[in-house]
Amino acid sequence: GCRLTELPFDNSYARLPSQWFQHVDVQPLKGAHLAAFCPEVAQLIGLDPCSVSPSELVECCTGLREWPGTEPLAMKYTGHQFGSYNPDLGDGRGLLLGEVNGRDQVRYDLHLKGAGKTAFSRFGDGRAVLRSSIREYLAGEAMAGLGIPTTRALCLIGSEEFTLRNGMEPCAQLLRVTPCHVRFGHFEFFFYSGRHEELKQLADYCLTRYYPECRDADDPYLAMFRSILERTVELVAAWQAYGFVHGVLNTDNMSIIGETFDYGPYTFMDHYEPDHIANKNDHVGRYAFARQPSIVLWNLAALAQAMLPLTQREALEAELDRYESLYEAAKLDRMRARLGLQRVDAEDADLVSRLEALWTSDRVDHNRFLRTLSEWVPGKTASLEALVNDSAALGAWLQRYAARVEQEAASEPIRHQQMRAMNPRYILRNYMAEEVIREAHQGDYRPLNALLPVLRHPGDEHPDMERYAGAPPKWARAINLTCSS
Ligand code: AMP
Ligand code: MG
Ligand code: MG
Repeated sequence: GCRLTELPFDNSYARLPSQWFQHVDVQPLKGAHLAAFCPEVAQLIGLDPCSVSPSELVECCTGLREWPGTEPLAMKYTGHQFGSYNPDLGDGRGLLLGEVNGRDQVRYDLHLKGAGKTAFSRFGDGRAVLRSSIREYLAGEAMAGLGIPTTRALCLIGSEEFTLRNGMEPCAQLLRVTPCHVRFGHFEFFFYSGRHEELKQLADYCLTRYYPECRDADDPYLAMFRSILERTVELVAAWQAYGFVHGVLNTDNMSIIGETFDYGPYTFMDHYEPDHIANKNDHVGRYAFARQPSIVLWNLAALAQAMLPLTQREALEAELDRYESLYEAAKLDRMRARLGLQRVDAEDADLVSRLEALWTSDRVDHNRFLRTLSEWVPGKTASLEALVNDSAALGAWLQRYAARVEQEAASEPIRHQQMRAMNPRYILRNYMAEEVIREAHQGDYRPLNALLPVLRHPGDEHPDMERYAGAPPKWARAINLTCSS
């Protein structure tokens, strides 16, 4: 790994047509200081974590020191928000600083969120608050810990500047790291403004950078759409299996590489609830938990629409027609893994849906249920009964499950071990985020930094963090999340 100021930037997006973005300098933030730093992400981008000096990192991120090779820019994109097309979107408070070739030849974007106003800020102040920045930082690590595709962050920077959100709140910056900041909404921008040549140029850029294997297909654009759809299916299947509610599934928050992208009012559910709405601003529940698979299909259809000038309508429609069965299969695969089932049985879908029905009617903490099931042996059912009201229904399901695992080749201890890898002891619950945010507002980042390793390795035992493995406190139910960030 190299030093921060020696990172070899190679900014391919900055070489694209200049009307696709606006060059903007980072706006310095008063009293900026390092709140959290992720050595694993440093290694991803080829940065030696031991060589990083906090003051240098903070000065580079806040524009106080020249960061050689960076060329900060705000991207233009548009998108559908809550079903309506908004032509006026773009990076309103985040800047793509540049790209570096990291581990395994993957090229990573370094994107600074909360960097100040841009041409796309509209009525916003260009800032991000500490509360939402901590939530995004935590979520990236938690998703990575679960093996779910996600953006991550190299560091989190606190400040002494305040801005109005839920009252006055401290500002922060997050240095987001991911190979991709191209959203479905980038394609929509060129489609709805009738700029089909540029649409093709964007698609060619994405083919080269993200889908090189599609370039040799008969129809590379169609092949790319197919791959985007397949990655996105895997993503939403993982969300549904782990009880993750994104909260704001607008097309400008959909990454074309199938990563969880733009964390706002997201939730890992404490209790299994198909109707759960994570975002208080979503009055009709457009983005409720159980609606996510169909909303993601809607978003893919919006992308297909925007790609119409590039390929055949019928072919795109045929890809969209595959979605439902691909999704069902991907979701079932995830659930089989969580249940420790390696063989495929025709009754598995029914076994899973009966379990989900039990979780729903009893509002079960399903992540804790599955962790407990990872240690269950027939006859010792008390720890599972403690999580469920209807013990007769539980007993009936367990009887069926016990018969099903009889078909498996793996012995019980091996199966339990495999299940524990899929069913973490710890899940990022909203109350945990609230706790570390409360402390961070008092200037104490230690609880935040103590939580991060738990999320990165959620299957391990963390003796000092035992309480996080148990039931959430009562006050967790009163937490309200909104788009305010
Ligand atoms: P989001 O709800 O986070 O997906 O944001 C939607 C759009 O609003 C994006 O284009 C953001 O860049 C923009 N935006 C959000 N907050 C701000 C802010 N404080 N200042 C300027 N633009 C913002
Ligand atoms: Mg967004
Ligand atoms: Mg956002």
